[in-house]
Formats: sequence, structure tokens, C-alpha cells
Amino acid sequence: MQINDKILVINAGSSSIKFQLFQLVNEKPEFEILAKGLVERIAISGSRIITEIIKNKNVVKHEKTITIKDHDFGAKLIIEQLEAFKVIKDFDEVVGIGHRLVHGGQKFVTSTIINHQAEAALIESVALAPLHNPPALKGYHAFKVLNPKIKHVAVFDTSFHCTLPAEKYLYSVPYSWYQNYQIKRYGFHGISYRYILEKLTEILKKPAQSINTIVCHLGNGASVCAIKKGQSYNTSMGLTPLDGLIMGTRSGIIDPSIHNYLCQITKNSKQPETIVSVTDALNKNSGLLGISEVSSDIRDVVAAQNDNKHPKQKQAALAIKMFTQRIANYIIQYANDLDNQVDALVFTAGIGENAAEIRQAIIDEIKILSLKLNEKKNQASYSDYLLISESSSKIPVYKIRTNEEIMICYDTFALIK
Ligand code: ADP
Repeated sequence: MQINDKILVINAGSSSIKFQLFQLVNEKPEFEILAKGLVERIAISGSRIITEIIKNKNVVKHEKTITIKDHDFGAKLIIEQLEAFKVIKDFDEVVGIGHRLVHGGQKFVTSTIINHQAEAALIESVALAPLHNPPALKGYHAFKVLNPKIKHVAVFDTSFHCTLPAEKYLYSVPYSWYQNYQIKRYGFHGISYRYILEKLTEILKKPAQSINTIVCHLGNGASVCAIKKGQSYNTSMGLTPLDGLIMGTRSGIIDPSIHNYLCQITKNSKQPETIVSVTDALNKNSGLLGISEVSSDIRDVVAAQNDNKHPKQKQAALAIKMFTQRIANYIIQYANDLDNQVDALVFTAGIGENAAEIRQAIIDEIKILSLKLNEKKNQASYSDYLLISESSSKIPVYKIRTNEEIMICYDTFALIK
């Protein structure tokens, strides 16, 4: 790769394609972001593309409403917009495309160039991630067709967790399920955890191998990870991203008997539940949304909790209590996993980075470790990271802005350079 060459990072979902375009600026290597955006509502009415052009930290936003019938057209539109706004002269300037893949299964323990063999293995991984991997593969095909010369790299949310010890990755189910069907805890948000770990090497001035940390990645999807000596040692998500914490719309851990009980009890009703419908509700109508009946967005739930006249105020307060208590319990458990030798407790992603009252509420729920936030620093604005605890806190607490796209860019660079 040469200076000024570009890498496109793609995160394709079922009805959206998020993109970021990076340019190599020096041999260190360092990258600068040139553009980012989103194709949304693919195959749904009201589809559009939003492109943000970034020059000297100034951002100019363009929006175009246009019928986008599939991922192929979405990909074409992204390249057309980047050309139209003169970010690239033509698609050949892009030398590599990095794709975010949620589930790498057992096969992908590192990022990988997508060749015929890898593609076949990725298709196999669809069984483990039917919601997430098919759209990512659609995204890959869409860009591949547009320019077959460009190299593609897959970067996985699961690979960081391939170091989990057996006692953490196994479920207490018949061992043959693991042997025959690869049923185990894979863990997710690994790209974000890797980014945070690298950031901590800078902040703590320590090599990754000597860092013990607990990272709370709290977005719409949320998980916690215990990183021991620079490696994932325990994490809250499992076979799929449904396990663990209470999330925006996902239940997190529940009694696995709920499926069967609901199917039995509703079998003679007008709308009998099935395994599929219950799983769907656990993914889409549970979590903060399910408990509060207000929203999956924590800002709305907090607003409802603080509004004495809101009809769902009590449920909103309950949702936040449950959300924060469960996170606190994982932090306590993971401090124990790390022998109570924790260099940093980190909050990241949409909620973790921005919601000061939620961070405080989580710390308030931790009774057996003496953690203390500095109120001003917890509230303070920041760009990259900030230490938000008092010096008396048993563990230093940080808010750190994650950047999964730059990790995907670096992995792509490392494999194609
Ligand atoms: P994901 O990438 O998993 O879709 P995000 O990391 O974008 O999710 O996080 C989304 C969550 O972050 C939402 O609950 C949203 O309310 C919350 N969030 C985003 N910005 C803020 C903010 N400024 N203050 C409080 N919460 C925020």
C-alpha cells in the first residue's frame, strides 16, 4: 500500500450499510478519515443515503432520498457519492475493503482475507449467526461485483474471545452439544474490546500483556468483558449476542424454560407462541423496551423515569434499576475473575461513553468494591478518553470512545499491505 491509498470499511446490516473511508497518511502507519455515512432502509420505503465528507475536522453532510432496492444498489450508490463529492476519483483508489462480521464461529480466530476458501467457511458460519452474517456477506458480494480487483478482509466480533478458557466458554449442557454442534460461548464486541485494550496501553503506559481490565461496552447491544493479561478471559454474550446483559431490545440471560412454558400456555389461544416467535420477542421486544414499555433508547427511558407525570415512570425506573444492577453484578464477578487486580474499569459505546447518570447508577449498585466517581469528571465533555474516578477509588474508572472502524481498517491494512 502507498501513501494516499484508501481503505473502505463496511458494516452491512439487514437493511443498512454503514461505511467509512480512510486514507493512509504515513508509514507509521496512520490513517485519516475522509468520509463516512450510511445507506438505510434498503428495500423499505423512505430509503436514503447520508454521506459526511470530513476535511480538516470539518464535516459536511449530504442526504439523498432514493429508492434502494437491494445491497448491490446501496454499494453502487456509496461509490457514486464518494466520486460525486470528489473524495475519490474512481473506485480503483480503494485498495482494500474491510468488512465487519459478527460471528466467525470456531474457524475464524483472527481477521482474514476473503478468498474462495474463506467465503465457503463464511457461508457455513451463517447457521450460527442467521441474523448478522447473511447481510455482511451480501455487502461483500455487492462491492466485489462492482470491482473484482479489490481485496476484501473479514474482521470478526468473536475472534478476540478465542482465548476464553473452557470453564468460561462451555455451557453446562451435554458435552456432546459442544462437540457435535459447536454450542459454546463465543462472545461479541471483540473489535471494540481490542480497540479499548490498545488505548489502555497508551493511557496506562503498560504493554497489553500486563493489563487486567473490565470493559463495559454499552450500546443498543451491550456486553462486558474481563481482559486478563491482555486476553479475553470472560465475557457476557454467548452463542449469540442475546446472552448476558439487559440491552435495548434484548433480554440477556433468562430462564431457558420460558420458551417451552409460553408455547404450552398459549397453544390454544388465537396467537400461539412458537420457538421462533419467542426468540424474536427476546431479541426485539425485550430488554429496556420490554420492561419500560417506553423505548429501547436509554435517553427516552431516563427521561420517562425523571418525569413524575409520565404514565410509564415506574416501569422506566424499574428498567434502569434492572439494567444497571445486572451490569454491576458482572463487574463484581469479573473483578473476582481478575483476582481483584484490575488496572481499569472502562465504560464505552453509546451509553457507556455518554450517559453519566447511568455510569453513576452502575457504580452505586457495586457495594463490595469501593469505587468512587468524580462527579464533575463523570459529567465532563471529552474527546477521546477521561479518567472519571477519584484517586481513592479501588479501581480507576475511565470513559473511552471506542472506534471499531479504525480497528477494521488496521486489520485490513495488515493483511493486504
Ligand atoms: P449500537 O452501535 O449497539 O447500535 P450505540 O453504541 O450507538 O449502539 O448506542 C446506542 C445507545 O446509546 C442508545 O441507548 C442511546 O440512547 C445511547 N446514547 C447515545 N448517545 C447518547 C447520549 N449523548 N447520552 C445518553 N445516551 C446516549
